[in-house]
Amino acid sequence: MSNPSRRTFVMCVVAGSAAFATSQVAAQAAATVAENDPQATALGYKADTTKVDKAKFPKHEASQMCQGCQLYQGKAGDAAGPCPLFAGKQVSSKGWCSAFVKKA
Ligand code: SF4
Repeated sequence: MSNPSRRTFVMCVVAGSAAFATSQVAAQAAATVAENDPQATALGYKADTTKVDKAKFPKHEASQMCQGCQLYQGKAGDAAGPCPLFAGKQVSSKGWCSAFVKKA
């Protein structure tokens, strides 16, 4: 009937294709906001809250992060999640922008 090594090869090709397709979907879902995005620049968004310009945003505190913002829609523990201010993109859970509103 079928040759075991051929069957193994076919299974590897199928598994590899599925893994590739999955990684493509994950890559699309993980499109994060670039700091030089016009909206990000306007809001002073930084993917790392510790990199926020203190002179420009004196009220910013290092403890403020997207994951603690009322607008953040990611799940706890996720590295990034959606934010309505950046439609179709994700913000870093450790990011920050000037529209930050502490979660109640
Ligand atoms: Fe992060 Fe909140 Fe600004 Fe969205 S509004 S980028 S969740 S700080």
